[in-house]
Amino acid sequence: MRIRDILRRKGDAVATVRPDATVRQLLSVLAEHNIGASVVSPDGASIAGIVSERDVVRRLHEHGAALLDRPVSEIMTAEVRTCGPGDQVEDLRRAMTEHRFRHVPVVEDGRLVGIVSIGDVVKSAIDELESEREHLVDYIQRAP
Ligand code: AMP
Repeated sequence: MRIRDILRRKGDAVATVRPDATVRQLLSVLAEHNIGASVVSPDGASIAGIVSERDVVRRLHEHGAALLDRPVSEIMTAEVRTCGPGDQVEDLRRAMTEHRFRHVPVVEDGRLVGIVSIGDVVKSAIDELESEREHLVDYIQRAP
């Protein structure tokens, strides 16, 4: 299965925040969309970074409530690992497990075209196993 198969099912919507948005504004975007990370982008297409709830929790612990008025550019990860629509989901699953992040933006021709979370990857693996199981049961039941 490829990344584009996941996007076909879940859609291409990506919640982004501008680098100069405050951490408080970021929290409202995460809560509003019920998501754990947002791509940081000045224009909704290019990627300046990624910021997840984990970044907020770590920095809150270090800096206290003053963090809420700081820009997200101060706490984002600037070196973002991305994938393409044609990449294999299995390869992405391995990379997410190895590097310990749960969100990967999808980029095509230098533009942001979607985002895949570890939840999407797990769901696609379960769907694949389920369909394999159905085929096997069907095959066994048809056997003479
Ligand atoms: P997450 O597991 O997505 O909550 O993120 C854990 C840490 O990895 C945070 O510091 C994120 O900023 C960072 N991170 C999340 N996704 C990516 C990614 N695709 N590329 C690089 N860093 C990431």
